[in-house]
Amino acid sequence: MTILGCIADDFTGASDLAGLLARSGVQVSLRLGIPETPPKNTAPIEVIALKCRTSPVDDAIQDCMAAFHWLKQAGAERFYWKYCSTFDSTNQGNIGPVAEALMAALKTTQTIYCPAFPENGRSIFMGNLFVGEDLLHESPMKDHPLTPMRDSNLMRLLEAQVTTSVGLANRLTVAKGVEALQEQLHALEKEGVAHVIVDAVADQDLNIIAEACRDMPLITGGSALAMPLPDLYKADGILAEDAPQMVIPETDDAAIVLSGSCSAMTRQQVAAFKPDHPSYQLSPQDLINDGVDQAIAWLKSQDMTTTPMIYATAEPKDVQEAQDQFGTAQAGAMVENAMAQLAKTAFDLGYRRFVVAGGETSGAVAQALGITSVTIGPEITPGVPWVYAEKQGQPFQLALKSGNFGQDDFFTDALTP
Ligand code: ADP
Repeated sequence: MTILGCIADDFTGASDLAGLLARSGVQVSLRLGIPETPPKNTAPIEVIALKCRTSPVDDAIQDCMAAFHWLKQAGAERFYWKYCSTFDSTNQGNIGPVAEALMAALKTTQTIYCPAFPENGRSIFMGNLFVGEDLLHESPMKDHPLTPMRDSNLMRLLEAQVTTSVGLANRLTVAKGVEALQEQLHALEKEGVAHVIVDAVADQDLNIIAEACRDMPLITGGSALAMPLPDLYKADGILAEDAPQMVIPETDDAAIVLSGSCSAMTRQQVAAFKPDHPSYQLSPQDLINDGVDQAIAWLKSQDMTTTPMIYATAEPKDVQEAQDQFGTAQAGAMVENAMAQLAKTAFDLGYRRFVVAGGETSGAVAQALGITSVTIGPEITPGVPWVYAEKQGQPFQLALKSGNFGQDDFFTDALTP
């Protein structure tokens, strides 16, 4: 029976949330997209990953409500709407409109908004969101291609997205503790404030907020605020002490690294892994000339015990050259299709541990392997858990890393028992 139902607006964000919830040891299941079949044998915590961060508002609401109904059918009475810790959204939405739709369905008059993730440098003070020491609108997020964040004030950002009033529970209240925060929320509710931004600058603040708000039918935020919830539910007796725990299935050892991310951190990780493992570089130029067959032949010729790496990871000037030559979308799609085919080949060859770098690359690999749901295992690094899936009765495991996550030795760390 599911206790907590979570809806996330993108894939790697969902896996980040699921990983933090699984730190409690409770079984967490992650569904990729809205499940096609009704819920059966669901986990105590279910996360549905959607791809609706920048969809048109009506589409985002429709997807989120479909996810909500599935989770409700699974037994959930408490819900978590997860978005990015940098509040990535446009003036139209989708954070506010989805929250309002969920509130209406739950007949609840108030929810909170707390994207803070202190461990990753995201904090909120007096309603303003900081990335490290910079205000959001002075951070690199100001230039994001899809959701440029040009204001750091969460109240102003949210006001543009919702139909009723927005308020603030500031750090001074949070620092006073659980009761003071609950009183402030009740006072705001009496004034008709439905949407409350809550300040948090440290993990301790998140613990206070989660405890104060644990009985709200809907909580909204980044992934970090959800972390204390499983233990609070256990203390309240909502989640049984003997609730199903994380299960780590036995998988065969053979491992492969597939890297399609070109971020600075991934470039360092590829460079660190390369000297000790056979590697093969894919490029859009080679793919257009020779297709993927050469890479497949290379993969087939490898000794599976050596943990080969196939990477398209390249320096910005090389990526730019390929994008100028083929177009950004086309260059990306060529690499993603090749990674998808290579992942399938690797599975057929018997590889059962996949370390994949890149958000879009992860999506392409997961799709190629026919994965619709995974269970969450232990975290390798904050925000990147091992996830377990099954194909043709064969268990296998994946680490799906978004570009900038992890340290230099991430690939080796992930694969070292
Ligand atoms: P990240 O998480 O770092 O953003 P993604 O996988 O989401 O990584 O995005 C990287 C994109 O860049 C993918 O679409 C991938 O196919 C594309 N790509 C990878 N290597 C190259 C390359 N050498 N030239 C052009 N595009 C590339």
